[in-house]
Amino acid sequence: MMQISSFVDRFSEPQTLLMAKLGRELAAKGVNVINLSLGEPDFDTPQHIKDAAKKALDDGFTKYTPVAGFADLRAAVCHKLKRDNNLEYTPEQTLVSTGAKQSLANVILATINAGDEAVIPTPYWVTYSALVEMAQGVCKFVSCGIEDHFKITPAKLEAAITEKTRLFIFSSPCNPSGAVYSKEELAGLVEVFKKYPNITIVSDEIYEYINYVGKHESIAQFEAIREQVVLVNGFAKGFAMTGWRLGYIAAPVAMIKACEKIQGSFTSGTNSIAQKAAVTALLSDNTPSMEMVKAFHERRDFFIAELNKIEGFKTLVPEGAFYAFPDISYYFGKKDAQGNEVNNADDFALFLLNVAHVSGVSGAAFGNDQCIRFSYAASMEQISEAVQRIKTALATLS
Ligand code: PLP
Repeated sequence: MMQISSFVDRFSEPQTLLMAKLGRELAAKGVNVINLSLGEPDFDTPQHIKDAAKKALDDGFTKYTPVAGFADLRAAVCHKLKRDNNLEYTPEQTLVSTGAKQSLANVILATINAGDEAVIPTPYWVTYSALVEMAQGVCKFVSCGIEDHFKITPAKLEAAITEKTRLFIFSSPCNPSGAVYSKEELAGLVEVFKKYPNITIVSDEIYEYINYVGKHESIAQFEAIREQVVLVNGFAKGFAMTGWRLGYIAAPVAMIKACEKIQGSFTSGTNSIAQKAAVTALLSDNTPSMEMVKAFHERRDFFIAELNKIEGFKTLVPEGAFYAFPDISYYFGKKDAQGNEVNNADDFALFLLNVAHVSGVSGAAFGNDQCIRFSYAASMEQISEAVQRIKTALATLS
């Protein structure tokens, strides 16, 4: 038998993909499943970005690219960071990768030695822990429940730090909770980080544009810790470009060089056509993205209001991203029509999939076993139908 390394056993398959797979299997049997499990805008990439990709092909951009990305894209990233975030970065302080996922992989592999600790507030995006585990690091999860609005406080942060802490990883807007950190909240965390210059702060800002509360605030704006920050962003969510696989970081040059070395051996420079299209995405009028966000906003208002009408659901109003993250623990201990008990969020997610034919993702996948994540990157009709089905299914639990 072919031997598989222990490396593969070190981390688990993302639950988000698993639920989508189970949903597809059910759909293949002819069941009409409403899929609210995936983190993907249901919009098409804006036409001007597609046109730029077609032009790139016609212009002959079909060859290997520089490992760190085309010079014009790295310059466009700097332009965007100045325009949107008032952050000064030079092209040498940027690196383009095959999705923000690869950006994160590079950074984590470039930071963590075996036994080093990464502080991760929960709920968190599943990939963070998988990557830390691949690097033989140790995740120090800090539980931030619904009562904390799913955000870490300076006191909790400081309590989690040890001499082995090398990384802090968080997203704002957050997947899965939709929480958005205000400037004041970030400033509070900065007061702690200032005391620990050896900690690298990974700020995942991929949902930046999908923000319903106003201006996006990046932790990179604080000069005192600027040298500690790796800003991660990408094109998947804000420009509806999930399939194009393009992300980037902005960070001190030493980190860029390390990531460039890693990426040079894994994948080399990312796709030439996607990079050229990304230059257009960053430099042109962003109205299509803003229209998409407007649609998400309307769906959010509708969906959250409906979820809050369901008996036992506790749902915060998410301030960004496109997920609802209700606390459903009220249903733990209840039994379905066959006498099977719903004991935890995994059971709850499977119950909804099998009985309501609505797929969400158990909060346990994100480090919170009281909640379930539903994506509302779906049509109003689907959202509305999903709510009805959820209500009907829950009424069968007693
Ligand atoms: N970061 C967060 C918080 C995400 O939710 C996702 C995608 O779901 C990513 C990063 C990955 O983005 P990309 O598709 O650019 O790899």
